[in-house]
Amino acid sequence: MVLWTIYVVKYDGDGVMEFNVDNEKTFEEFRKIVSKECNVCCKDLIFMGQLEYDCEYNSKKLKEIIGIGDQCTLFAVYKVNGGGISTVDISKNQTNEYEPSKIRGPSYRIGCDGLVIQSNCKNRNCEAFNDTVYIQIGYVQNWSLFEHLEDKVKCPACGDMVKPLNYWFKNCSYEISFIKDVDGNYERGTIKGTANYGKYKTFNREESGEAIFVKLVFNVTRS
Ligand SMILES: [Zn+2]
Repeated sequence: MVLWTIYVVKYDGDGVMEFNVDNEKTFEEFRKIVSKECNVCCKDLIFMGQLEYDCEYNSKKLKEIIGIGDQCTLFAVYKVNGGGISTVDISKNQTNEYEPSKIRGPSYRIGCDGLVIQSNCKNRNCEAFNDTVYIQIGYVQNWSLFEHLEDKVKCPACGDMVKPLNYWFKNCSYEISFIKDVDGNYERGTIKGTANYGKYKTFNREESGEAIFVKLVFNVTRS
């Protein structure tokens, strides 16, 4: 028996838990141990971090899964009703192009090259209350969004956390890997595109609608 130390970051950011676990145990068994500790139903708990979650892991032994090892850190994600990031359904990759004048306005609505996140501020005390705001992200490598770890997306006017509604790109090549929650099943995929000629490219929310994503990973490079 080989004991591994596995650290689990709780999804709400409420500390890191340490588990000493036999690496012959299956992923499912490990999930049950963590679920018990977190007091949530096992089927509602998945992990991410160095590994990309896959349902096929459940029956595998920990030592057989690439991305899990001694001293590794995993992020616990609770799969509950209404969980995940509700955002434009990027998996359809329906895009529109706009002249830069489309994304200009007050100081909280200024774009940039690379990635820009579109949102709407819900803070009543904010000058941008109920208004569209743009969060400048720029060029990024392996920049990820998880539910409850999206504090990277803050209103540029007041600093409150805001919900990412859409994504704009300019002067870049972009690649987004996603895990989409389709009625409790996880669909994984990657979409790619380029936004050149000084125009902004964004997803067409009217055509694509919204979907629930467990995770989004952005790679946005200068083109
Ligand atoms: Zn605000």
